[in-house]
Amino acid sequence: TPARSKPEYRLDRSHAEFVRAGKVIPGGVNSPARAFGAVGGEPPFLDRAEGAYLYDIDGHQYIDYIGSWGPMILGHCRPEVNAAVAEALAKSPSFGAPTVREAEIAEEVAAAVPSIEMVRFVSSGTEAAMSAVRLARGVTGRDKIIKMIGHYHGHVDALLVSAGSAVATLGHPNSPGVTPGAAADTILVPFNDASAVASAFERYPGQVAAVLLEPVAGNMGCVPPRPGYLERLRELTTKHGALLFFDEVMTGFRLSYGGAQEYFGVTPDVTCLGKIIGGGLPAAAYGASKEIMSRISPVGPIFQAGTLSGNPLAMAAGLTTLRLLKRENPYPALDRLAERLEDGLRRAATDARVPHCVQRVGSMITIFFAEGPIHDFDDAKRSDTALFGRFFWELLARGVYFPCSQFEAAFLSSAHTEADIDHTVQAAREALLAARG
Ligand code: PLP
Repeated sequence: TPARSKPEYRLDRSHAEFVRAGKVIPGGVNSPARAFGAVGGEPPFLDRAEGAYLYDIDGHQYIDYIGSWGPMILGHCRPEVNAAVAEALAKSPSFGAPTVREAEIAEEVAAAVPSIEMVRFVSSGTEAAMSAVRLARGVTGRDKIIKMIGHYHGHVDALLVSAGSAVATLGHPNSPGVTPGAAADTILVPFNDASAVASAFERYPGQVAAVLLEPVAGNMGCVPPRPGYLERLRELTTKHGALLFFDEVMTGFRLSYGGAQEYFGVTPDVTCLGKIIGGGLPAAAYGASKEIMSRISPVGPIFQAGTLSGNPLAMAAGLTTLRLLKRENPYPALDRLAERLEDGLRRAATDARVPHCVQRVGSMITIFFAEGPIHDFDDAKRSDTALFGRFFWELLARGVYFPCSQFEAAFLSSAHTEADIDHTVQAAREALLAARG
């Protein structure tokens, strides 16, 4: 059970709703992390949000560092975004037929993201990753995908695999229901180790369709690429006739308007986008050059479709979000704000004498309770997750909502203020002292 030193922090109504939900929804949630398994205890049920603040049904207010796990880069309920959705809704929630806004947002994405000339919209990051893997295999005529250990690309069968004991090993399923066959063509290597990718290419000559990665890992906590690593992957994939495939579901429109590929100046062949591109509604996308994308149906033979793909409400929220990001360019301010949080967390943890390592790229940030630097999943797994759980609850009781796992990055939004950051750092100071015991 989590430490809750602040007795006035109670979640009675949330508890009742959690029990009720657990009777009709597995674990009471529609996505597992929300059940707080990684930190213990039960989640607050949320009622509404505005800007950088969340409000639960028990009457608490929190500073939000999840941002719906990434999409809410402008904060919640930006009036322009909500108005665009309301306007689209008045015309119809869905047609399943072409609309003008789909080309408008596709043009915006193609202009923003260096690797993308054409883009296909889908409804979730999982669907984008799954479709792009099919595309990579269809285009190259090869079966194998090189994937980084600890990177997450949604619950796609072929990508839901864990590492065997050896490096550059074939994966095995890490969920019942994923067949060995589905995992058999996934080669796992550690992140940030280009030589492991080189040896995988040697071991499976002419068989690798793509090297797939989060250019900045967010799903094992925030882990940046080592200097030169992305460039080396670009060289290796080109040399071996494989596609370089960035999953920018998290980093797209977050690290910069053109994503991690613009931020680091390395252009992949295929890119997945999600989260921000839907402005908080269900939308995601995958894109590449005209040549590659022309292999998709109805132009080419590689099949992919979706009843709600390019949904009018999601396109309205996404397009409005992208246009605001382009116009306001919040990235330099987000970077300064996140740096303030980074410095504050580091000082607080140092003063509390807790082993730690704060890692950040732009507005993605993680405090690992382990000595750093953290370069890969093995490093990340050395973290004191029990301490993280206690820290998380102490923060929550002080009105700060961090990601409910050591292995998830926190996100800032343009609605956060310096006062929010300073409040967070002060809360973290107290939380660390309480959690450390
Ligand atoms: N790829 C990355 C990098 C992600 O972070 C996620 C979700 O967190 C996904 C893919 C899957 O996206 P979705 O949850 O929309 O299916």
